[in-house]
Amino acid sequence: MSFKVNLSKPILCGNEKKYVIDAIDSGWISSIGPYIARFEQAVAALIGVDECISTNNCTTALHLACLTLGLKPGDEVLVPALTYVASANAIAYCGAKPVLVDCDRASWNCTATAFSQAWTPRTVGVLAVHLYGLPSPINEIVDLCHRRGVWLIEDCAESIGATINGKKVGSFGDAATFSFYGNKTISTGEGGMLYVRDPEKICLARMLRGQGMDPNRPYWHPILGYNYRMTNVAAAIGLGQIEMADYHLEERRRIARRYAVNLAPLVAEGLLQLRDSIPGFESTFWLFSAILSSGNKQHRDNVIKSLAEQYGIEMRPFFVPMNCLPMYKTDSSYPVAEFLSEHGLSFPTYSGLTNREIDEICAAVSKTICKTISKN
Ligand SMILES: *Cc1c(COP(=O)(O)O)cnc(C)c1O
Repeated sequence: MSFKVNLSKPILCGNEKKYVIDAIDSGWISSIGPYIARFEQAVAALIGVDECISTNNCTTALHLACLTLGLKPGDEVLVPALTYVASANAIAYCGAKPVLVDCDRASWNCTATAFSQAWTPRTVGVLAVHLYGLPSPINEIVDLCHRRGVWLIEDCAESIGATINGKKVGSFGDAATFSFYGNKTISTGEGGMLYVRDPEKICLARMLRGQGMDPNRPYWHPILGYNYRMTNVAAAIGLGQIEMADYHLEERRRIARRYAVNLAPLVAEGLLQLRDSIPGFESTFWLFSAILSSGNKQHRDNVIKSLAEQYGIEMRPFFVPMNCLPMYKTDSSYPVAEFLSEHGLSFPTYSGLTNREIDEICAAVSKTICKTISKN
């Protein structure tokens, strides 16, 4: 189906094309070439860390983070029930078990208290996610992990550039991962980035990324590695994108402010709930999202369907909680994750979405919510 307004689209309005042509002309189109280091350094500078390691996507960056921190079969890692499936999968790839944690009703993220209550004797780490761009209460989570002697990975796939009191997410934990998939805030088509705090483990992460090859001895592979490398062409796009990071971040904040103002009447009527803002926490609004407080899942799905069919507006339902997927099914229930998953919807969010388009989307949403409610 083609839409008049898409949920998301990559906006390549900087030097992306120029850099890609340069990469092609230079002949360096695989995973050796100057754009890789330049892109890694640019991301490290944005996050405020010393060094980053590029990968071919964020799922592989998460896998490398788990391997580098020593995750092994039999171990357990705490992870939000409401996240994109890659967060849990990376744990499972290591033969370890993701232990699901319910999220907070107001912030949609997991609190330190929720992590601590889900603790098991085999817990070796916490994988925190900054969902839809809003930081998790990471200082409290860092404290918890320090107290209990386990590691912390931040999954920043949806939150590059988000801050807590000015400090960027991804710079708090023992490792952090970023996604540059086509619908993320900064995109390389497919791509990812890994940060590892311990300088002694960075070499291991790079080895694991490159088939386990010894950096000082070509074609000698002392450990089982993977090919998780980014190409110079993807990094060329990424460098063009990251140079424009301030623009893309400010655009999303402008869009979110306008949605919030326009949707205030629906919020006042109790039909829609926006996410609580938290003092000192700055979201990147990867996707501006809201909860349809009234009705059920069917109502939410009907709203999405009518907006698509009648107005050509693409909205997106929230992720399916991990406990509802066959491979992570448990006997426990995660009521908040399940509620948010069934009532949540994300709005079109991308740089360049005009105020007029936002106004039209909000008017259509308002009409549709009221109409579908009376039909239910
Ligand atoms: C997009 C996303 C990923 C995976 O990113 P890819 O680059 O597509 O592998 C992981 N975690 C979260 C929370 C995401 O939103």
